[in-house]
Parts: sequence; C-alpha cells; structure tokens
Amino acid sequence: MSLQIKIEKTKFPKPKPNQDNLGFGQYFTDHMFIMNYTEGKGWHDPRIVPYGPIPFEPSTMVFHYGQAVFEGLKAYKTTDGRVLLFRPRKNMERINISNDRLCIPPVDPDFCVEALKTLVNIDKDWIPEAEGTSLYIRPFIIATDPYLGVRNSKTYMFMIILSPSGAYYPGGINPVKIYVEPRYVRAVRGGTGYAKTPGNYAASLKAQDEAHNEGYVQVLWLDGVEKKYVEEVGSMNVFFKINGEVITPALEGSILPGITRASTIDLLNHWGVKVTERRLSIQELYEASENGTLEEAFGTGTAAVISPIGELSWEGKKMIINNGKIGELSQKIYDTITGIQNGRLKDEFGWTLEVK
Ligand SMILES: *Cc1c(COP(=O)(O)O)cnc(C)c1O
Repeated sequence: MSLQIKIEKTKFPKPKPNQDNLGFGQYFTDHMFIMNYTEGKGWHDPRIVPYGPIPFEPSTMVFHYGQAVFEGLKAYKTTDGRVLLFRPRKNMERINISNDRLCIPPVDPDFCVEALKTLVNIDKDWIPEAEGTSLYIRPFIIATDPYLGVRNSKTYMFMIILSPSGAYYPGGINPVKIYVEPRYVRAVRGGTGYAKTPGNYAASLKAQDEAHNEGYVQVLWLDGVEKKYVEEVGSMNVFFKINGEVITPALEGSILPGITRASTIDLLNHWGVKVTERRLSIQELYEASENGTLEEAFGTGTAAVISPIGELSWEGKKMIINNGKIGELSQKIYDTITGIQNGRLKDEFGWTLEVK
C-alpha cells in the first residue's frame, strides 16, 4: 500500500487541558486520521484532518450489528524530549487478527504505523510530560454501509484519535480488589474473545456494574463453558505467582492476546523466572491462597501496565494476596516496562519506536 497521506491542519487549535487533571479518555487532540475502504477499490484516501464530529446515516451498519474493531496504545514523552511508541506494529498486526474474526478487510500494518507516527508527530505538543502521563492512541475500524440487512459491510472507515491521559496511579501503585464473576461470562472458545471488538465490552458491562455495587473495582472472568478456569480481568490479562512460578492463562481463543502480557512473559523468560501458560482453575488458586503459596497476582494491559491484585472474592470466600500490597516481582516488571516506555531504561528488546 503506497498511499500518500493528505494533511489538512486545523485553523482553530484548541486550548490544551490542565495537565494535572487529565483523567482518561476525556480530551482529544487537534487532529485525527481517517481512511476509507470500498469494496473493489481497497483502502483509500488516507488523510489527517481537524478532530471533530463526522456525520453518519442512522442506518450505518456499525450502529446496528457492531461490526467494528479497535486498538489501544500510548505515546510517551521522555525526559530528554523524545517521543516513543511502545511496540506499535504489534497493535497493527493484532487489528488484522480482530479484522479477520469480524469479516473486516485487513489493513497494511506498516502503512498504519506510518499513519500513526505522522498523526502523533503533528499533535506532539499535546503529549503530557508529567511522570506517568501519556498520549493514549485509539485506532479503530467501523462498518459504514447504510443498510439494515445482516451481512458484511462493503465500506469501512479506519480512524485514529488521540487523547492526552493522566497517570494511572497518581497516588502511587495501589492493589485492587477484584470480584470473581460466578454467573455472567465474557467470551467462549469459538466466540470473539480473542478479538478487540466493542461487543465484548458491551457484554461485560452488567457484571462490571454489579461488582462495583459490591465494592469491587473489576471482574475476574472465568471460562464460559465450565466457569472453572481463570480467563482475564476487564481490559487486562492476569498473572499469578504461585510457589515461585508465574502462571498465566493460555491463549485458547476466549482471551485477548495482550501486548503487555507478551512483554511480561518475555521479561520473565529473560530474567530466568519460570513462567507457564496453562489453564488455571479458580479452585487451584483458592487452595494456593489457603496454603500460603499464592505469592503475587497482577493484571497487565496498556492502561495500567501492571495492576497488582490485593484481594479476590470468589463465592463469598476472600483471598488476600501479599497482605494487599504490591509484590516484589510485580513492582520489578512495572518498573522495567515503564522505564523502557519513558526512555529511562535501555531498550534491550527493541520495543520502542521513536516518532520524529
Ligand atoms: C486490550 C485488552 C487487553 C490488554 O492488551 P494490551 O495489548 O496489553 O493493552 C486485555 N484484555 C482485553 C479484553 C483487552 O481488550
């Protein structure tokens, strides 16, 4: 795909938000990237235009049947003023895996990384600089045919929008309390669990609501068939350190293959820490908790990087992990990944890509 990106800069740059109060996903930069797909023509008209509303007919297919995929990654400003992306090609490879599951035509990952770099470079003044802050990047694709029949759309839009975001842990890393969901399921093998698609999130809201009402921050999903095996948490993969060994659920089609998950496994292997991808039952986890061998538990994902789990509640039984404090290994993984992301540590793995 050798396409030229047309650039139309805004005539009305917006004031930047207060950097101390960014939160997540509330502010958007001055520009966005758009490209269209038309059957028979392929992806065309890549362009960067001022950020703003786009008109769609009410019959637009994505509103009705949810044929859509998305990605999430971040750009970081280093202390010496460089701008780094973390493994962006992985996101563009993964969007094609999601595309395949949702019958959306594939994109050229290299071209999309180029588009991403060009957009971030144009809006680089929006990247916040305080410790822990970043520019969240949201690429997504939606079905755009104005049509109510159930079939694949023949037209699509690929867009990238950017959102300056605050530190995930403004007051220092805080382990979270998590509710093991006994009733609802997120995904089943053979379903769309491994794809990053909005429907998976729509299906998760009810359990999330009920967990919130019980005082829990997130839901730990069990497998959709037997409700026995641990799957993942909200928008994070999960890891457990039991008796010195790190265990994470294997990718069997119902779990999202996280890039932070892959990076964590690479780091553990590099450090010589035993890490195993396999099925892990909630009963096994409970027994490990009871006999004192459950040493650490944490989630991994772009937003938090590492989110330590201090408590799990399963059918009224509580598992308190590491006295509700972050574990040593969790902290080391967090420090290493964030250090590579913000340029303070040497990037031995070639994970970062500089935007310039
Ligand atoms: C995006 C996502 C993750 C984490 O993936 P990363 O690439 O590490 O950000 C985990 N689970 C779900 C359901 C997700 O959507």
